[in-house]
Amino acid sequence: MNISQSKLLFERAQISIPGGVNSPVRAFKSVGGTPLFIKSAKGAYLFDEDGNKFIDYINSWGPMILGHAYKPVVKAIQKKVVDSTSFGAPTELEIQMAELIKSMCPNVDLIRMVSSGTEACMSAVRLARGFTGKNKIIKFEGCYHGHADCFLVKAGSGVATLNIQTVPGVTGGVANDTLTAPYNNLHAVEKLIAENKNEIAAIIIEPVVGNMGCILPKAGFLEGLRKICDEENIVFIFDEVMTGFRLATGGAQEKLKINADLVTYGKVIGGGLPVGAFGGKKEIMEHIAPLGNVYQAGTLSGNPIAMIGGFTMLNELKNNPSIYDELEEKSFYLEKKMHKVLEHKKIPHRINRIGSMMSLHFCNHDVYDFETVSKTDISLFNKFFHHMLSNGIYLPPSGYESWFLSNAISKKDLKNTINAIEKFSL
Ligand SMILES: *Cc1c(COP(=O)(O)O)cnc(C)c1O
Repeated sequence: MNISQSKLLFERAQISIPGGVNSPVRAFKSVGGTPLFIKSAKGAYLFDEDGNKFIDYINSWGPMILGHAYKPVVKAIQKKVVDSTSFGAPTELEIQMAELIKSMCPNVDLIRMVSSGTEACMSAVRLARGFTGKNKIIKFEGCYHGHADCFLVKAGSGVATLNIQTVPGVTGGVANDTLTAPYNNLHAVEKLIAENKNEIAAIIIEPVVGNMGCILPKAGFLEGLRKICDEENIVFIFDEVMTGFRLATGGAQEKLKINADLVTYGKVIGGGLPVGAFGGKKEIMEHIAPLGNVYQAGTLSGNPIAMIGGFTMLNELKNNPSIYDELEEKSFYLEKKMHKVLEHKKIPHRINRIGSMMSLHFCNHDVYDFETVSKTDISLFNKFFHHMLSNGIYLPPSGYESWFLSNAISKKDLKNTINAIEKFSL
């Protein structure tokens, strides 16, 4: 595969951009090699600057659930952009967006738009603190909630990929207010709560984890947390930045039939534009300014171009719920075939999957928390990644990330993916 243009661009990028990238995992640091510079994308495919074509299993880390350059979204943006790109004043479109989200997501009475998943999670935690008058939060090892200071304690995603144990720049005071427990370990949470009686404002969790590979909650885990939050007056926050509008129109809350108090969104919600949101119960959301004193704001929040992109995407999902059945069928097919091929090759592995989120781990044990994912064979994953890439399959460049399918992917694309796996050897 010729990647000479990407190599040149990466060298040039490193002169002016830290590490040559604007978000760390893109740099291929863990898998090694040169990151590919992308020129365009259409449907299920990415095209790089050298003209190579790839079947895309990242889909912008989730947002492109209907494939790249999805026509209705592109058209809506084109139509809207001539009316100016920002006003800094309210628009009817923001009401339509809020109403649409409320109609899709259980348990959302009020919703505030922001510009990223990080902002959504950061604001939800501040709100939980303001609402409860308590300071500490509990998060889970390997979960990623964006790069706000309080979340960079035992975080997943790029923090895990780059193996950064303590993040310079995060003060001890902030870090001390973030308590962590292993995912899927209710007992550890009970212990933390007993040790910090009446000090916990919120428990924030990825209801299905996508940032240490894909990890599913064990039966009773989320229900147990729900019960603890009710008993201890703790705000239960679902970080649905990945799972929102991906696992179902109503996200993990709907798919897993469990309600959070506050929910954060990102990724799919913007249809590929920079959008995030946090929302939930009225009695809590009412504490946000200008209704209440918990301050939160954004010059470009509810930006009209971002809103029309997201609104159009969510409308498509709401009006065509069979999309989720199709995604399930395609994802199940890939899981099943991939398992068969690897088993035949006698390569020990586990595939974790729910709907169109999945991850492949090379190991001989179940993968259900950060410790078990850390014990998987990451160097073999890196080899697998490069093998797949050179066969035209673009996987996340890290064993700590989830794969995302788009509904633009065809049976033929999936078969080509399986064919590439068949050519893999240790
Ligand atoms: C991506 C992600 C975030 C951060 O969103 P950004 O838009 O990158 O700031 C937060 N939480 C989860 C679960 C995510 O996957």
